Amino acid sequence: MNCIFCKIINKEIPSYTVYEDEKVLVFLDANPDSNGHLLIIPKKHILDLDSMDSETFAHIIEVAKKMKKLLEERLNIDGLTLIQNNGYVQEVKHFHLHLKPYYIKKQTKKDLDEIYKLLS
Ligand code: AMP
Ligand code: ZN
Repeated sequence: MNCIFCKIINKEIPSYTVYEDEKVLVFLDANPDSNGHLLIIPKKHILDLDSMDSETFAHIIEVAKKMKKLLEERLNIDGLTLIQNNGYVQEVKHFHLHLKPYYIKKQTKKDLDEIYKLLS
């Protein structure tokens, strides 16, 4: 099967894996929306939500909670959004849960001066 995420699981292509157990792999998204953007994937090839089983999904949620703690402790994230795409909007056809961190950017006087310069 020509699945890029199965190849990551089988170590045929490299990834920045941050967590692994018998059921799932967690690695950095190669095209992150923010620092620490993670993907959680099941080790068995599951296409999407329709083919996902409750036991694997429950485990993925437990791992998501663990990763949320890790992101809070190590990267000081301020918020986290979970996304799982299906159908037309699913680019990689192996189930994956996105964990997208958010950061509150404190605006300094210097930031405001730079933004003002760009806009005026
Ligand atoms: P989507 O299928 O639209 O939910 O998103 C697929 C995600 O997989 C995108 O955010 C890509 O940046 C990410 N991605 C694709 N290939 C790799 C890869 N080899 N390593 C890490 N992330 C990847
Ligand atoms: Zn796969």
